[in-house]
Formats: sequence, structure tokens, C-alpha cells
Amino acid sequence: MGREGRGTVPLAEMFEACPVCGGELEKKELEEIVRGGNDTATLRVEAMVCLRCGEIIYHERTVRAFERVRARLRRGDTGDMTLVGSSYEAPGG
Ligand SMILES: [Zn+2]
Repeated sequence: MGREGRGTVPLAEMFEACPVCGGELEKKELEEIVRGGNDTATLRVEAMVCLRCGEIIYHERTVRAFERVRARLRRGDTGDMTLVGSSYEAPGG
């Protein structure tokens, strides 16, 4: 934290309660997989997770990061990403 641009809302202040069920929200660090074309990238992000229904609320800049990474994967622009293993398509059961 500490490198947010001006005008961004701190994650914890986005919602006081879950917009779906009104339940309590807790800030959690999640690992999200973004897919672009045939490639995937894993992002560690903070999100608010509803303790009652499991709804996940991402910060707007996190959603933008997903889109940016997705677009970069599609055009093979992975210069500053780290290759961490391979992904496979397995036969269905
Ligand atoms: Zn909820």
C-alpha cells in the first residue's frame, strides 16, 4: 500500500456492508487468476469478502489491473511478469 494514485478510495471505505446481503465485510488478500488468450497470470490482490454470503468486492483499481493484465496477456506483453510453471488442458472426465 501507499502508492495509490490520487482520488482512489481506500478499499476499506468502499462499502460498510455487503451490497448483496448486508453482511459483514472483511478485508482479505486473495490470489486471482486472470486469463488472456491461452495464457494466465496470478495476481495477489486485496478485496473485501462478505463473511455471510462470500461475495467478493474488488477495488476499482484492482478491476482495472485485471483488465490491464488480461490485455497484456492477449498480446504477449509479459516482460515484467514471472513465469511460474505451466498450465495444461486436461481431458474432461
Ligand atoms: Zn453478503
